[in-house]
Amino acid sequence: MKYSVNAQCPCGSGLKYKQCCLPYHKGKLPKNALVLMKSRYSGFVVADAKYIIKTTHKENQDYTDDFNLWEKEILQFSHNGDFQKLEILEFVDGEFEAYVTFKATIFFGSEDASFIEKSKFYKIERKWLYHSGEFLG
Ligand SMILES: [Zn+2]
Repeated sequence: MKYSVNAQCPCGSGLKYKQCCLPYHKGKLPKNALVLMKSRYSGFVVADAKYIIKTTHKENQDYTDDFNLWEKEILQFSHNGDFQKLEILEFVDGEFEAYVTFKATIFFGSEDASFIEKSKFYKIERKWLYHSGEFLG
C-alpha cells in the first residue's frame, strides 16, 4: 500500500504523515518510547515492515533471523488490517526502560480485533526498541 505523505498521520497526532512519523521511518531516532510506539503503529498502517523489524528487541517473541518470513507476516497483517484508531492510555518514561499502554482499534473484515496492550521498551545504544507486550482487559 502506498500511503500519501500528505495524508493525516496514522498515529492520530493530527499532523501530516510527512511531518510526524515519516521521518522516523526514514531513520530519525524517536526521542522516547512513546514516539517510537506511535511510529511503530504508523509503520504497521503504512506497511513499513523493515521499520517494525528494526525497532523490535531481539528478545521479543516475534523476533526471528528469518527476515523474509517475518516481513511477509508483517505485510499480511498490515494489508489485511483496517487500522482505525490509536489511543494512548498511559506513558511511563524512564532512562533505559519505559512503558506505553495503548488501545488499538483494528478490524479484520467485520471482525473486531481491537486490543489494549501495555508495551515494554528498552533503550539500547541510544535507540528505543519494542521489547514485549502484555494484553490487558
Ligand atoms: Zn505520527
